[in-house]
Amino acid sequence: MLYLHLDNDLPRWLEAFQQQRPDLRVVTANDEFDHAEVRWVAAWNPPEGLFARFPKLEAVFALGAGVDAFMRRSDLPETVPLMRLLDAGMAQQMVEYILWAVLTVQRDFDRYQQQQLQQQWQEQTARSVTEMRLGVLGLGALGQQVARQLAGLGYPVTGWKRSSLDLPGVRVLTGDEGFKQLLQTSDVLISLLPNTPATQGMLNADCLGLLPQGAVLVNVARGVQVVDEDLLQLLDNGHLRLAVLDVFHQEPLPADHPFWGHPKVVLTPHVAAATLPEPAITQVLDNLHRLQRGETPRGLVTGSAGY
Ligand code: NDP
Repeated sequence: MLYLHLDNDLPRWLEAFQQQRPDLRVVTANDEFDHAEVRWVAAWNPPEGLFARFPKLEAVFALGAGVDAFMRRSDLPETVPLMRLLDAGMAQQMVEYILWAVLTVQRDFDRYQQQQLQQQWQEQTARSVTEMRLGVLGLGALGQQVARQLAGLGYPVTGWKRSSLDLPGVRVLTGDEGFKQLLQTSDVLISLLPNTPATQGMLNADCLGLLPQGAVLVNVARGVQVVDEDLLQLLDNGHLRLAVLDVFHQEPLPADHPFWGHPKVVLTPHVAAATLPEPAITQVLDNLHRLQRGETPRGLVTGSAGY
């Protein structure tokens, strides 16, 4: 028996499970069932204590790419394998979102929007793709696709990760020196890093201050990576041109947060890449098969790395 926990869209997910594995009993909080019969949990935003309800829990499937909400929890022992989604249709959505953010500044759409408010008719000088240097922090399942596809469009792309990687058309840097080099040469800085103790608070004044004058931050990873006050200061003093933010320390973003009304902030409500039921369930069921056959599942999270 598999227990499914989601905030919304339950009927669509249940139907997709039914279509792909009719023999698997999938239950939710709306059903009556014996908790001791649940062997697997598939969840997004798991509430505190959820996993402790299932005494015979064998594995957990995170219905997203980021697993920060599943880490360091007293109700989920590290001995229970935790798997996350690898792309599952999210990479293409990320490419689209980031391309929109890059084009916003490359083609000056942010400025035209401000001009329209003042009924100002004034042509800006747009830049070509080769003049927009992109820096992608994190080259995992999503970051690699973003870097490759944008490089394919002609943008000079530099990526950064912990271990080295050969990614055709993309300059890949590692380590502290690589991080500094990427910052100094990125007109658009894009974060696709996971939320770990090492990445929290990493996008602070020291880091963002190294970006070239007029650079742009695009954060589609997790809000806790940004020091909001530092970002606001760099936007206000003109060092940064724009911040495109999809994720925040607190979500929904509190009503009194200065990001809401800031003229140099474009924000969206954590929608850069949504989990799509059909490809997500295909991955979950494939991993279930692998576990049942004693094989190594895909997207297995290592507790020590935190992602
Ligand atoms: P992956 O785990 O596949 O990739 C993570 C990448 O980050 C790897 O390249 C890894 O490098 C690198 N990395 C991790 N820690 C560090 C570090 N301390 N220093 C440098 N590099 C590091 O993740 P995904 O690509 O699947 O997803 C990335 C993140 O995107 C998710 O964790 C989630 O937070 C966010 N996300 C946001 C969504 C949204 O709608 N806004 C939707 C989906 C995901 P290495 O391989 O060398 O270890």
